[in-house]
Amino acid sequence: MEPPSFIPYGRQEIDEHDIEAVVEVLKSDWLTQGPAGERFEQAFAEFCGARFAVAVSSGTAALHLAMLAAGFGPGDEVVTSPITFVATANAVVYAGAQPVFADIDKATINLDPRAAAARITPRTRGLIPIHFAGQPADMKAFSELAGKHNLVVIEDAAHALGATYESEGKLFKVGSCAHSLMTIFSCHPVKHIATGEGGVITTNDKALATRLRRLRSHGITRDPARLKNNDGPWFYEMQELGFNYRLTDIQAALGLSQLGKAQRFIARRRLLAARYNEACKTEPAIQPLEQRPGTDSSWHLYVLRACGIDRRTFFAELRAAGLGVNVHYIPVHLQPWYRENFAYGPGDLPAAEAYYEQAVSIPLFPALTDAESERVIKTVLETARRLRECGRQEKEK
Ligand SMILES: *Cc1c(COP(=O)(O)O)cnc(C)c1O
Repeated sequence: MEPPSFIPYGRQEIDEHDIEAVVEVLKSDWLTQGPAGERFEQAFAEFCGARFAVAVSSGTAALHLAMLAAGFGPGDEVVTSPITFVATANAVVYAGAQPVFADIDKATINLDPRAAAARITPRTRGLIPIHFAGQPADMKAFSELAGKHNLVVIEDAAHALGATYESEGKLFKVGSCAHSLMTIFSCHPVKHIATGEGGVITTNDKALATRLRRLRSHGITRDPARLKNNDGPWFYEMQELGFNYRLTDIQAALGLSQLGKAQRFIARRRLLAARYNEACKTEPAIQPLEQRPGTDSSWHLYVLRACGIDRRTFFAELRAAGLGVNVHYIPVHLQPWYRENFAYGPGDLPAAEAYYEQAVSIPLFPALTDAESERVIKTVLETARRLRECGRQEKEK
C-alpha cells in the first residue's frame, strides 16, 4: 500500500497572476525601493483601514522597528503573552527592554488582560497582545489598561490579517490601530499572504510612519525638509542608527497580488474552520479554542486541545497518518534562553503551560481541498475516538 500523502499544517497558494506580477518587476528598472513597494503599502493600509503601512523584510523586523519607534529601551518592561512565536518577545530584547510574560485566558489562549494588569510595575512601558490563531485579543481591555498606566499598545497580528472584532457596538478591523499605536503583520508563506519573507507595520500616526521608514533604511533620510544640513542635491543624512529591513519590489509585487486574493483566502479558512468546529462537537476528546463573542477570527491556525487523551500519542499517530500537525507554541518563557536570562521556569504561567500540554494544530490553509479536509476530519476523529476508548479500557482494567 502507498503511504498516505502528507498534508502540511499550512502553506502558501501561488497562481499565475502572482508569477506574472513578479516577472513584471524582474523585467523593470526597480528590483527594490521602486513603485511596487509603495503600491503594496497603500493597498495594505487600505485593506486594514489604517492611514499608513510600512513594509519591511519580515514580521520580526516589523516588531523590532515597532519597539524602537515606540521608544522602548533599557530599563523598560513590556508585557506580552508566552503563547506566541519567540519573535514577539525577542523584539523587546532587541530594543534593550525586558519582556514580561503574563498568563493567558484559558478559553481563547489570548493574553489575559487581568493577568497583564497584575504584571504592571512603574517600569512598564508597553503591552503586546497577540491575536492568537487569528482571533482578536480583547483590545478594549488592553487600550483601557494602557490609558490608565500610560502604556503603548502594539498588536502582533501576524495571525490575524482580515480578522474583525466588535467593541461598544462598533466593528473594527485588526490593523486599523483603533486601540493601539501600531500593528505588525508577517508575510511568511504559512501566514495569510506570502511575500517569501516579509512584514508590515500599520499605524495612523504620520510621524511614526516616517520614523519607521527611516529606521528601515539605516536611519537615513533624503527628504530636504528633514535634513539638518544640506550640502547639495546629492545629500543625505543618517539621523539615527537604523537597519536594512527593506522589502524588495519583487516581494512587494507578490504581496500586492496576494492581497488581492486575501478576502477569498480568509473566507476559505473560515469555511474550513467551521467544518472543523462541527466535527469537534462529535468527539469529546478534542476541543476547539473558544471564540469570544463579537470576534471574527481569520483562522491562521486551527488548534485542537486533546482532552483526556495523551497528546504525545495523538500527535504521533496523526503524523504517521500523513497529517502535518504541529504545536503552537512551546511557551516562550520555557525556552532555555528565557529561563537563563530572565529566570523563568516551569510553574510560572500555569494556564499557558496547561494549554501547551494539550495543543495540536491541524492542517488549515486556503488551498486545502474539500477531499483533503475530509481526510483531516476523518483521521482526527477516528484517532481521538480510538485513544479515548483505549484510555477507558485501561481504566476499567
Ligand atoms: C510569524 C510570526 C512572527 C514573525 O514573523 P516573521 O515574518 O516570521 O519574522 C511574529 N509573531 C507571530 C505571532 C508570528 O506568528
